[in-house]
Amino acid sequence: MTKNQRTCYRCAATATTKEHFPPRCFFPKGEGLNLQLKTVPSCKEHNNDKSSDDQYLLAHICMNASKGPSLARETFLRSISPQLARSPKFTSSIAEGATHFADGTGSYRVDVGRFDNFFDHLCWALYFDRYGHPFNESNHSINHTYPTLHADDPGELEVRAFLAGMIGNIRQNHPKQVVSYEAAKVDESVYSNEIVDPIGSDGSITIVHRFYGLFEAISMLSRKWPRIYA
Ligand SMILES: [Zn+2]
Repeated sequence: MTKNQRTCYRCAATATTKEHFPPRCFFPKGEGLNLQLKTVPSCKEHNNDKSSDDQYLLAHICMNASKGPSLARETFLRSISPQLARSPKFTSSIAEGATHFADGTGSYRVDVGRFDNFFDHLCWALYFDRYGHPFNESNHSINHTYPTLHADDPGELEVRAFLAGMIGNIRQNHPKQVVSYEAAKVDESVYSNEIVDPIGSDGSITIVHRFYGLFEAISMLSRKWPRIYA
């Protein structure tokens, strides 16, 4: 065990627990399913297990699953449906801003702040796992974009197009700069990612996340410019 494995992934406190990333609720449970899920050491304060934002994101991802059998559909029925039945508050948080169309389909407006909170935590864990020290906001800013979600804002569409171009270019021309990871697989992939960090933890880092083959998010951990005194 190295020194870093005993301190929290977010602060200098001694770790007393483990944080799963992605959260456990994203994975199927069951006998004989001995999934090797990734964890980082965590203090009590920074353990995000059972966060309501985890459930919120999972609900929105899985609602887009087709009606046919799939891991996302199964997860929805197992993990989200009972909660919808039990908690009117959870149901209204999901249904807020929903639009129903004449053909029976619908669209949901998501609370991007809650998505961002989820992806902040996931990136902090990925960062610690990869580099062995906590993510430091004074060196990097952190922003996420969600190409799967419908957007009208031209600025947002521009960011997406730029990122898609940049990542496509790196995949094609500098494949060694892309590190791929796939979480414990159960028939289908629950979660996978690609990390692009050409100069390591000190530079800008781009992370492409994929869930159930349905949902994609891109996290930008951008190196802040050093102060320059002229
Ligand atoms: Zn901590």
